[in-house]
This record gives sequence, C-alpha cells and structure tokens, in this order.
Amino acid sequence: MPLVTSTEMFKKAYDGGYAIGAFNINNMEIVQGITDAAAELKSPLILQASAGARKYANSVYLVKLLEGALAVHPELPIVLHLDHGADFAVCKDCVDNGFTSVMIDYSGHPFEENIAESKRVAEYAHEHGVVVEAELGTLAGIEDDVKVAHGMASYTDPDQVEEFVKRTGVDSLAIAIGTSHGAFKFKPEQCTRNEQGILCPPPLRFDILEEVARRLPGFPIVLHGASSVPQEYVKIINEHGGALKDAVGVPEDQLRQAARGPVCKINIDSDLRLGLTAGVRKHFDEHPEHFDPRQYLTDGRQNIKDIVMHKIKDVLGSDNKI
Ligand SMILES: [Zn+2]
Repeated sequence: MPLVTSTEMFKKAYDGGYAIGAFNINNMEIVQGITDAAAELKSPLILQASAGARKYANSVYLVKLLEGALAVHPELPIVLHLDHGADFAVCKDCVDNGFTSVMIDYSGHPFEENIAESKRVAEYAHEHGVVVEAELGTLAGIEDDVKVAHGMASYTDPDQVEEFVKRTGVDSLAIAIGTSHGAFKFKPEQCTRNEQGILCPPPLRFDILEEVARRLPGFPIVLHGASSVPQEYVKIINEHGGALKDAVGVPEDQLRQAARGPVCKINIDSDLRLGLTAGVRKHFDEHPEHFDPRQYLTDGRQNIKDIVMHKIKDVLGSDNKI
C-alpha cells in the first residue's frame, strides 16, 4: 500500500472511540520498532518528522525509510506527517517531497496571522492531495526548535475554534489542554508527589476538550506533548549512568479518555527516546566490552517496539483496526 492521508483513519477513529498514534521518526531503528509493533497489532499509523528530524536524517532518507517499511509491511496504512512546520515554505517543501500530511504551527503568532498562514498551507496542500493540521493555543515545553516557557503557555480558547477551522479549511486541529512537550512536562511545584516520591501532574482540561468538540462536531482533534514518560524506563536510565531528575509525563488513563472522545491523533516522541536510551545505556553497562552498534541498537529498538505495542493496545485503542 502506498502512503495514505489521515482522512479515512480519523473518520474511523472518531466514530470508533480510539486514536491513531503519531510517532516521531529519526532513524532506521525507530522506524522498524514502530512499524513492527503496528504490523503485529494491525494498527494504522502516523509517522511524523520534525524539523530536527529532517535536519538530522535528511528528508530524503526519511521518505526512503518509509518506503522500506511499506515494502516490508504492505498491509499497513501509514501517513507520513510533518510535525511543527514553521511556515508555508517548510510545508510546501514536504508536500512537494512525498509527505501525505503536514502541520503548520503558527500558534505562536497572532490569531489573524495564524489563520492566514494556515489557510495558505491548506490551499496548497489540498491542491496536491495532502491534508493539514494546524494549532490553536500554545503548549509549554521543548520539542526541537519549538520552545515555550511554562509561564508562556496558553490553553486553547474554544470561542476561536469554529472561526479558525472555517476560515482556514484545515483538516485537523491541535489544541492546548495542559499537555506539554518533552520529558519534563511539568515543574515539580505544579505537581503533587505520590508515596514513591514520583511526581503526579495536574489533570488535563477535559472541560476545554468537551467545549471544543461541542463546537466542532465530528472534527478530528490532535494532542501534542502526550508522552507519558514511563517511570520504568526513567529508572533504567538513571540506574545505568543517566541523570533524569523529575522527568514526568501525562498519565496514560487521561490519554485513553481523550482517545475515546474527539481526539483522533496522539503524538508520542519522548517515550520512544527514553526507551531507546534505556536499552542502549543498560546494554553498555552490562556489556562494557561491546562496540558493535547492532548489539546495543537491537536492545533500543526492542524497547521502542514494546512501548508502541503498549500504546496501541492500552492507550490508543487502535489495535485490529486495519
Ligand atoms: Zn508537538
């Protein structure tokens, strides 16, 4: 099957009460870990590349890696998505080079400018059979070139969503309801601590999500910054020479709840980074004599596959949907 757009996927996900995982890709092992997991569980898939990924791997390699994955798993419907396109030029470049979905993130600009740039991208993309995600509201945290201080984040204003979607013509909308980019999503003072001393973050704003859904019935909503930062991998990293203090993510039961509702796409990046790093760190610690990348990357890739299988089954609910 060639790369597809997310139109059909989102429609089924919305009606079926589940979400599609959008996993960030940066190299071959990550692509393999994710696609092997999705194939085993018969789950549709969005693979997304950020500006940082395109800089690191070169877009040509990323597109070709996906072609490889499709050849190995021809039954898998896969979307290749641009994560956080900074402007029209970046989005156009991806539309012209084989991506089937792009995100224009002008959320840091004033409302009217966000509308104008998102509309421009939507018109160009649609002419080429590509779908578009835009964003309203601002997430805190750090993701590659997107950096927003905790105090500068703002929730999506439900009063703006209908006008925004109508005037831009975009196909899905990322909203800010309290998720955050990176592995340190919340400052310790925003959280409480449980008996084990692990941080428990403030709950997502489901009231905003519900209000957005009421104003945009049937319209696919996207959650960014939705890694859960699994503490078992943080622990492995810290036990094998790492120093990740107070890493914290979004609890998976809240993501499951969002997936049952209007959220059709959930972005997961940090969890894969943690899994790969945990596998490599543990391997080096236990086998200091090893220097063959195939040995330690095998462990990292296996962790990615395990994490993605868990997400598909227990968080997204997208297994057996192809
Ligand atoms: Zn994001």
